Amino acid sequence: MNNFARPIIGVSKCLEFDMCRYDGSRINNNFVRNMKEYVDFITVCPEVGIGLGSPRKPIRLVTIGGEKNLYQPSSKKNLTKEMHDFTKKFTASNAIFDGFIFKRDSPTCGIADVRLYHKLGTDVGYGKTSGMFSEGILKQFPNLVKEDEKRLNNISIRENFLTRVFVLAHLRESLQFQQIEKLIYFHSKNMLLFLCYDEELTIELGLILKSNDDFKLIASKYKNIVHSILSSIPKKNSIIDTFNYIFTPIRSKLSSAEQSHYFSLIDGFDNDLISQSEISTLLYSWALRYDLKSIIDQSLFNPFPKNLLLDLIESKKEYSIL
Ligand code: SF4
Repeated sequence: MNNFARPIIGVSKCLEFDMCRYDGSRINNNFVRNMKEYVDFITVCPEVGIGLGSPRKPIRLVTIGGEKNLYQPSSKKNLTKEMHDFTKKFTASNAIFDGFIFKRDSPTCGIADVRLYHKLGTDVGYGKTSGMFSEGILKQFPNLVKEDEKRLNNISIRENFLTRVFVLAHLRESLQFQQIEKLIYFHSKNMLLFLCYDEELTIELGLILKSNDDFKLIASKYKNIVHSILSSIPKKNSIIDTFNYIFTPIRSKLSSAEQSHYFSLIDGFDNDLISQSEISTLLYSWALRYDLKSIIDQSLFNPFPKNLLLDLIESKKEYSIL
């Protein structure tokens, strides 16, 4: 069984944790509930944090004097300063996050497409912006892995989010030891995963580990590059190159029919007919058959606890024909 590092994840508190919404409700979220077993959550409700209580009258973002403001129409209170102060305090006392899950559409927590009203009053037009708290968080942690709760219902987006936060948690834990051996172990376990994102940067990581710099400098350079690697999404060509890299030492042990089967799968993947996981499962089963430990142990095959996809798989079954 795989021992995963525990990511530290910030989360809007109304998602699963607390009845802190403006109408006194809480939002059930199966994914967040399932994550509790595997991650350490830091929960926050900024609107309650600035003393609004729950239930409360709604608030909105409004442009006043060319600036974005947080405003409560019913009380005519401008809450902008309170929210900025709360965000500063929150980031000062919570300096470590591997990721953040925000509530969508909230003027406080939403990360995109939040209504920004052009002026005070009723029936005014609006544009789109980010929430005031989430904006402050992302200013403080520009590399933060973040998602809103609705996007995480898309399986590819969720897989990408989980891969990133579990890898970053493992890196954070590896760096705590301040030993190059731990970092080398981390690198060897994640190398094939990184190759799927960016070959050049993966090579650069290897060179950093071989340098004679002191550990602090190595750790800082290494961490920055891992963040850059994970800030993109894996590229199809890089994934195929990585699969072929894994396939090469196995190939001679396979029958010609098995080899052709592999290449037809690669062709299918290249043409969007076959998913990455089908090929990955096949390669993993061959690695098991030939006891190729260096491949079996790679995070590429098991980057996060699979249970964290269960609710999506279950909801798909509800709509299946069978
Ligand atoms: S969206 Fe944010 S501010 Fe609103 S209830 Fe949820 S946690 Fe609180």
